Amino acid sequence: MKNQKKLIILTGPSGVGKGTVVREILGKDKNIWLSISATTRDPREGEREGENYYFLNQEKFKEMIDQNLFLEWAQFAGNFYGTPLSSVNEKIKKGFTVLLEIEVEGAKQIKEKFPNSLSIFLLPPNKEELERRIRKRGTEKEEAIQKRLSRANYEISASNQFDFALTNNNVDETAERIIKLIKT
Ligand code: 5GP
Repeated sequence: MKNQKKLIILTGPSGVGKGTVVREILGKDKNIWLSISATTRDPREGEREGENYYFLNQEKFKEMIDQNLFLEWAQFAGNFYGTPLSSVNEKIKKGFTVLLEIEVEGAKQIKEKFPNSLSIFLLPPNKEELERRIRKRGTEKEEAIQKRLSRANYEISASNQFDFALTNNNVDETAERIIKLIKT
């Protein structure tokens, strides 16, 4: 991939508001394209194939790993998640800034492969707020919530491994700050 500065990684714990911030960014800047990931987790209510994720079974996901079709992939709370390589390459070639909204292990892989990419870690205002947000979403069973919360502690401890760590107090403000970082 030639234009590595065109690659933006947004990471941070589940529930921190990455998805909401991303939607705000996409609304503000039409030159930014969000990569749609593949996952083995079940769709949540309202989620659509090809819009939120490509929903795959484990067999298909592992086949794609074997065929080197992912830019990165990781396991998270019992499921696989990965960034399809071909669409990212294609969009970068077309001149888009590509945004990856991914968990910490995948983010580290990308940063290693593409040191010129811009990596941003989103922090919650505090851990209580993070738990409140995960629970409020109401999409996960208690077991999955617990997995995400314990993973969040580990992820937050890795926040200093990225180019910038921003606290997500306010969606609009966070989106503006990220767009500024992309443009400078
Ligand atoms: P969720 O199940 O809540 O949609 O996502 C769980 C976590 O996986 C989130 O932190 C999300 O950012 C991350 N994620 C989504 N897509 C990918 C991907 O392609 N690769 C990696 N490494 N993480 C992903």
